Amino acid sequence: MMKKYFALFILAVALLPVLPTPEFWITLANYIGLYAIVALGLVLLTGVGGLTSFGQAAFVGLGAYATAYLSVTYDLSPWLGLLVGLVITSGAAFLLGAITMPLSGHYLPLGTIAWGLSLYYLFGNMEFLNKYDGLNGIAPISLFGRRLESGREMYYLIWAVVVLAVIALQNLLNSRPGRAIRALRGGGVMAEAMGVNTAWMKIVIFVLAAQLASISGWLYAHLQRAVNPTPFGLNQGIEYLFMAVIGGAGYVWGAILGSAVLTILKDQLQSILPKLLGSSGNFEVIVFGVLMVLLLQRARDGLWPYIRKWFPSSPAAVAPAAAPALPVRTKPTAGETMLEVDKARKQFGGLVAVNDMEFNVRAGEIMGLIGPNGAGKSTMFNLVTGVLPVTSGQIRFRIGGRMQRIDGMASRDIVKHGIARTFQHVRLMPTMTVLENVAIGAHLRGAHGDVAGIATGILRANRVEEQTLLFEAKRQLERVGLGNMLYEEAGSLALGQQRILEIARALCCDPTLLLLDEPAAGLRYKEKQALAELLKKLKAEGMSILLVEHDMDFVMNLTDRLVVMEFGTRIAAGLPKDVQQDPAVLEAYLGGVDEQDLKVAHQ
Ligand code: ADP
Ligand code: MG
Repeated sequence: MMKKYFALFILAVALLPVLPTPEFWITLANYIGLYAIVALGLVLLTGVGGLTSFGQAAFVGLGAYATAYLSVTYDLSPWLGLLVGLVITSGAAFLLGAITMPLSGHYLPLGTIAWGLSLYYLFGNMEFLNKYDGLNGIAPISLFGRRLESGREMYYLIWAVVVLAVIALQNLLNSRPGRAIRALRGGGVMAEAMGVNTAWMKIVIFVLAAQLASISGWLYAHLQRAVNPTPFGLNQGIEYLFMAVIGGAGYVWGAILGSAVLTILKDQLQSILPKLLGSSGNFEVIVFGVLMVLLLQRARDGLWPYIRKWFPSSPAAVAPAAAPALPVRTKPTAGETMLEVDKARKQFGGLVAVNDMEFNVRAGEIMGLIGPNGAGKSTMFNLVTGVLPVTSGQIRFRIGGRMQRIDGMASRDIVKHGIARTFQHVRLMPTMTVLENVAIGAHLRGAHGDVAGIATGILRANRVEEQTLLFEAKRQLERVGLGNMLYEEAGSLALGQQRILEIARALCCDPTLLLLDEPAAGLRYKEKQALAELLKKLKAEGMSILLVEHDMDFVMNLTDRLVVMEFGTRIAAGLPKDVQQDPAVLEAYLGGVDEQDLKVAHQ
């Protein structure tokens, strides 16, 4: 949201307790604030990162119980309680995350359910936590020599935390690690290919979300001055998720909207429904259930997008007009071997998708890899970039002047050595801008490590890094001819342009070897010519390129050498003019689906 509206929001929040607002509304606002802090964590974890947790209430409980215990038993300062709570929560979240994150699919939600349940019973059965009766007589928080005893006084602290959390989260999401976190939803292959350690990033956001929950628990304990296990059970964990989803889990403001809507609605329903139905009970849960189903059918992104429409929007990440240039890898001398594929084999069960393939790529050349559909070209790319492990054989790459094995390396390590790629089926984040998408490619060129990057991102101490990375992204986009689309949503581009965007993103990795999987598919004639010019220019700068392409005209005019695959096997290799007269190649193509393409090439 724009700065002006954010200022208005802060003003409204600050005025509420000054105006003659009834005590009841202050209490309600306090709860909205407490829930919003937890829901903000879920925006990061679930809405942005794509990981579902039902266990946030348990982290709230850890924060609340830690400070309550220290306050009641040892009369220690609430501020120490906050610190201890955060340490315990972070440790627990790290362990839980490290166990469940590497498992895919439903293990994380299930793990968080188990965690939520077991912690609830643990709180309720611990003698020293006074079992289900809980702990009473918790001291109030002192701030600047003032004891925050009333709800009105706590209001300021709670909402100050909400505002700070909003700012921190927005800052983080608009930083280098933030873009990596936003890329997680793309399934991981793309982010890893750009050098992001996705498993680690997932653990990080899990811990951050747990820390927000813990802070909310701390505030809760000192607002209520008493804790018992009930508000930290699985029910509440599910309700937190409701709040985030109803408000709009993909948006920072969705967390606040969702907490407000659900809290006010719950309060209203709790007084209206029993009267309406003539008996008491938690009927609001049924209404929530129905609401949730309706929402999932009608408005998957929650309520916030409907409100956001009324505000003018401007891109959060803007490229500067100038910035210091990033260091560039020196390109090897032309003609030196860059890549050696040595009897590389890939089997999927009984299918041999890549059958003992052999070829090499030299520095400063454009090498074409062609063959009919299903020949195994994309699989070959996946072997070279570490997306798939080889079944047997070796792949070597020039690293530090020597040929070294890269088969067996992780994708994110291979890109560190200078191999960047595009995908045949484009993998980009459709709701991020073109500029932000391309900046993901510059992930490895940031000034900070992951943890320092997150800290500097949250504190906005990353100005120089941001400017250099965004400038680099802009430069590469201008280079590929998308300089006039920096702030469009990537998903709104034509498919051909999305492929070109992927080239800019790969260039941001500062590669010495570029792997392009059908880059010209979906391009118009003029665009193809522009792409050919670009590839020639890159080659002239010393870039090595491995190109998969179906347009034979394009391939024959551009490549220095060709290798032809059919059914996973190399059937020909050599200069383009020789290869296109090779009987085996003619046979493969005339029998295959690409007959038209080859005829074009022969004209
Ligand atoms: P190309 O890119 O040359 O069109 P691919 O490399 O995509 O060919 O596919 C080669 C063969 O491997 C095809 O028969 C395809 O169905 C199969 N294949 C590709 N990826 C997988 C996978 N992950 N699991 C099983 N089979 C696969
Ligand atoms: Mg393919």
